[in-house]
Amino acid sequence: MATEKANPFSIAQRQLDEAAALLALQPALHALLREPVRELTVNFPVKMDDGSVKIFKGYRVQYNDARGPTKGGLRFHPDETIDTVRALAAWMTWKCAVLDLPLGGAKGGVTCNPKSLSPFELERVARGYIRAVYRMLGEETDIPAPDVYTTPQVMAWMMDEYSVLRGHNVPGVITGKPLPLGGSAGREDATARGGVCCVREAANILGLNLKGATAAVQGFGNAGRFAHRLGAELLGLKVVAVSDSKGGIYNEDGLDVEAVQDHKRKTGSVVNFPEADNISSDAPLFLDVEVLFPAALENVISARNAENVKANIVAELANGPTTPEADHILYEKGIYVIPDFLCNAGGVTVSYFELVQNAYNYYWPLEMVYERLDNRMTAAFHTVHNMAVQRNVHNRLAAYLVAVAKVAEAVSLRGWV
Ligand code: NAD
Repeated sequence: MATEKANPFSIAQRQLDEAAALLALQPALHALLREPVRELTVNFPVKMDDGSVKIFKGYRVQYNDARGPTKGGLRFHPDETIDTVRALAAWMTWKCAVLDLPLGGAKGGVTCNPKSLSPFELERVARGYIRAVYRMLGEETDIPAPDVYTTPQVMAWMMDEYSVLRGHNVPGVITGKPLPLGGSAGREDATARGGVCCVREAANILGLNLKGATAAVQGFGNAGRFAHRLGAELLGLKVVAVSDSKGGIYNEDGLDVEAVQDHKRKTGSVVNFPEADNISSDAPLFLDVEVLFPAALENVISARNAENVKANIVAELANGPTTPEADHILYEKGIYVIPDFLCNAGGVTVSYFELVQNAYNYYWPLEMVYERLDNRMTAAFHTVHNMAVQRNVHNRLAAYLVAVAKVAEAVSLRGWV
């Protein structure tokens, strides 16, 4: 289908339009929510190890700050464009609202392939990006976090660079930091943990017993790796397939998370794991499993292939893995989709906890983080589920109805429209 290659931002706008119509948003308010309030594109020089200078392109998009300072991750990816960043910034806005966090949404990124950079080059890209955008950032204005191919170490360099520019230590300017620099306990696996809470609640509603139920994961990074581990540990799922950008692996008896992680650490990929068959990167999406975690990139489930999805529950840890056409197909097939900006909101929720702890300079124990995360995820899940039942719509539209109404209310109360 021609629209399948549509850019993620048009998809985000179409999703909003559907919700705006049902909410009967007044036109000016709808128009404001269709676009980012502020965005910056930068081109910055980086000295490479061989002495040459390379120019990198970076972005920061603040989508809407009516509910509070904007918050959203930074991606280092070769395919990064202003439109992916806009879409992700929009989804961050709805995500913070659906979780009822006092934050707006933003996103940023650098078009680069971090795998081709040495550690020193990566550090210089991270610091160069901050020097280029730092005027937009601040703990009371806009707070970045890790996302695809950025790590706690990258956050540490960025926080340090920002603190140097400001002349004092500013841990709260960025979240997802290592623990010794003011990170929160429980941040590392928070995205997957939040998704797993949602899967538990969905299974209760569907009357599905998850003990020994099969699962597949696409993507084996922060989100996917921990989905594998926590799905097995907390829900008793048997994860039969995982994949990364180089390919995937399948074993009908289940994959041991430690052994797969170890193999990936040693070889750089899950592929050729000795106790499994190799499959393609996309194959986990179409396996006959109870739970599917798309945890890589956007638009992987589209009108072209949605008919082939067989899972009972699709828990979207990735942002934007399902196109609007595919959404309708999955709904018609009776598949229970936990939409991205609900399912993967655990990361930003613990990032919010990190911000609060940085502001107080007082840190919570791990168990407290887990409990507060579970409470927030469970409450948000049921708000969205109840909306879906009440309005007879699919879960993504229900999540939009909840989130957009909250942002619209804040915009109106501020008197913007
Ligand atoms: P990551 O960089 O840690 O991992 C990305 C993984 O996806 C890697 O294993 C990579 O090999 C794999 N991948 C890339 N292309 C692939 C392909 N075509 N097929 C299969 N696998 C592929 O990134 P992450 O933080 O785990 O993010 C993954 C998704 O989750 C993204 O959509 C991101 O926006 C979303 N997300 C992450 C967080 C978080 O806290 N990390 C929070 C919310 C949403």
